[in-house]
Amino acid sequence: MTQKEKDTIKETILQAITDLELQIETLEEKAKPIAPDCSLGRLTRMEAMAEQEVSQKILDESHIRLTRLKNALLRIDKPMFGICIECEEEIGAGRMSIRPESVRCVACADNH
Ligand SMILES: [Zn+2]
Repeated sequence: MTQKEKDTIKETILQAITDLELQIETLEEKAKPIAPDCSLGRLTRMEAMAEQEVSQKILDESHIRLTRLKNALLRIDKPMFGICIECEEEIGAGRMSIRPESVRCVACADNH
């Protein structure tokens, strides 16, 4: 991977972190527990709870991805960045630019 490719990926990671942090803020609002004294009707309340559950799930996934992206940012200047942890081949700039948090190449990710 060239330095230029790394610079581009670094930009991608920083942008993704900013987007995720915004998304997490919005989701945290939506994932707040529904107050028991909520004046909603029963059906609306069930819908609200289902929606809250979905938000919570996306929120959890977002937190995991945020951690992975931050880890990728710490690794990016190290020689192992972009190298698959399974087969030690280059993951490839294409995949890294789409999923910069990748630690496995496509083949190993499929087998995992
Ligand atoms: Zn691999």
